[in-house]
Amino acid sequence: MATITFIGLGNMGGPMAINLIKAGHELTVFDLSPEAVKAVTSEGAKSAATIQEAVEGAEVVISMLPAGQHVESVYLGDNGLLQQLASTTLVIDSSTIAPETAKGVAKAAIEAGISFMDAPVSGGVGGAKAGTLTFICGGEADAFERARPILDGMARNIFHAGPHGAGQIAKICNNMLLAILMSGTSEALALGVENGLDPAVLSEIMKQSSGGNWALNVYNPWPGVMEGVPASRNYEGGFLVDLMNKDLGLAFDNAVRNKAPIPMGSLARNLFALHANEGNGGLDFSSIQKFYYRK
Ligand code: NAD
Repeated sequence: MATITFIGLGNMGGPMAINLIKAGHELTVFDLSPEAVKAVTSEGAKSAATIQEAVEGAEVVISMLPAGQHVESVYLGDNGLLQQLASTTLVIDSSTIAPETAKGVAKAAIEAGISFMDAPVSGGVGGAKAGTLTFICGGEADAFERARPILDGMARNIFHAGPHGAGQIAKICNNMLLAILMSGTSEALALGVENGLDPAVLSEIMKQSSGGNWALNVYNPWPGVMEGVPASRNYEGGFLVDLMNKDLGLAFDNAVRNKAPIPMGSLARNLFALHANEGNGGLDFSSIQKFYYRK
């Protein structure tokens, strides 16, 4: 069992930290929000007055922060953690950030003699609570092997995508594809319904045909077709349109940087941006269905 410091106890980080406590690790936690800290200390974690105090004696530091600027400020900023951590520390950043940012923090960590791994996740808040996340890791093989037993307490799948930054690249490729699949599924369902078809019957036909895909098969965007998915509870909970927009922005920036054509991804990015602009940013991303069918 390891001595772990967990930084960033929001919708994802809070339940992830609680699963690490349940797995028997000794946890110290830090977040700018006292409520977020309290939700995890009440499950057995220790807290600290400052982030610097929180990492004292940590064998492993895990962060789950909103975006790249938060990760840079925690590790590289004034009094940043890389200046303080022992060289035996393993740092695992599970935030979804630009691959270039992850590579920059990894480079600074290596210069300080510290192991760093980018390990963004797929599986959402439900997966964080259930301990069934998919971790997509980028970093050196030995860091990956050290991280694996720790991640096990929060994961169903753990992948080593490649070197530093590769976890973030794989994550943004996956989410760009997910946005495209959800848009395409919503478009096909709306066309069928416009023509008088029952969305449940059409869904079943496409599931058993060549149009079957994850969005259709397990996350149907049409209200009432499938039980237990956000579409059947007014698109509440799930993976927010705002977060999908963030990930599509990361994919778009990366494509520009690499001169990579992403016509489908760009279209999906514009659809989700428009959808957010129409006041839907706080809904689950399957609400893109409403963009196609406004009756
Ligand atoms: P969130 O906003 O709920 O939580 C972020 C937490 O970080 C907050 O509690 C905030 O107070 C804390 N924080 C911010 N700056 C800090 C600092 N300097 N020091 C300490 N704590 C700080 O976000 P979330 O939904 O938990 O997402 C976290 C990351 O996971 C994001 O990068 C997101 O893109 C990614 N992600 C989210 C989901 C999801 O469904 N929510 C799914 C996959 C990946």
